[in-house]
Amino acid sequence: MNKVADLHVHTNISDGTFTPEKVVEYARMQGLDAIAITDHDTCAAIAPAIEAAKGLDIEIIPGVELTAELDEDEIHILGYFIDWRDEGFIKKLEELCKVREERAREILRKLSEQGVDLRYDDLIDIAGHGPGSVGRLHIANLLYQKGKVSCIRDAFTKYIGNDSPAYVKKFKLSPKEAADMIKSVGGVAVLAHPNTINTEAMPLKDIVGALAAEGIQGIEVYHSDHNAKDSREFKEIADEFKLLITGGSDCHGLGKKEVLLGKVKVPYELVEKLRQAAQF
Ligand code: AMP
Ligand code: ZN
Ligand code: FE
Ligand code: FE
Repeated sequence: MNKVADLHVHTNISDGTFTPEKVVEYARMQGLDAIAITDHDTCAAIAPAIEAAKGLDIEIIPGVELTAELDEDEIHILGYFIDWRDEGFIKKLEELCKVREERAREILRKLSEQGVDLRYDDLIDIAGHGPGSVGRLHIANLLYQKGKVSCIRDAFTKYIGNDSPAYVKKFKLSPKEAADMIKSVGGVAVLAHPNTINTEAMPLKDIVGALAAEGIQGIEVYHSDHNAKDSREFKEIADEFKLLITGGSDCHGLGKKEVLLGKVKVPYELVEKLRQAAQF
């Protein structure tokens, strides 16, 4: 049987709902041979995931998902095969998580200006008290739990989406800084879900070309929000700039209509190519 991987998975250490152990167990059930754990701004799930994978015949690829700013918009940059134990790297991630906490407080302040009062303590009850990152999906969940919105999507549309009144930017990194941060620990920097990029001012091809010149090495061609036409377009762009190709479900556990883990499976050859491009 040909080996397959899902290269974009979140755990409850960031804004997924499954523990690292549950992610590993579920991934194995889905017949995956490898998964990349790519939590937002934290690598705290990687050690427990590797531990849980022992004896299960599934490979854990250490990853991360960073946010960078591109012309006022946010883009996400995945890092693969990073040295997740590097102390300097962990420190930088901890700083990014602090920025996230301040930003979450700021979003709650903006929400209260909109007449929606939420408590930070309640948010942390959802996000978790241990190491990890807090983000907008947690705030969306709290809005839903408190009956302020009818669904998660509504929370983004009405309040915290990129163009909504309580949105607050968090990023401190340029795309180059994000790519450099990943490469500084031997990793491979990959542009995540390119369909979320704002292409009003410039075609995607030109944006990706510029990002490649700044050090982005790959592009996420396959993703649960990409249709076949999207993936074809992104594959052509990847070929044009000689970029690596990745794909993953971007599973956040429960909360969507279905659990996405394993819904995007890419051939294991892509993992081998990523490994070869990684520096350590
Ligand atoms: P953050 O990193 O805190 O800005 O949150 C980003 C996360 O919020 C993404 O990874 C998604 O899980 C979620 N998200 C962003 N926009 C939307 C949206 N329009 N609908 C649902 N989830 C979203
Ligand atoms: Zn997320
Ligand atoms: Fe993302
Ligand atoms: Fe993600």
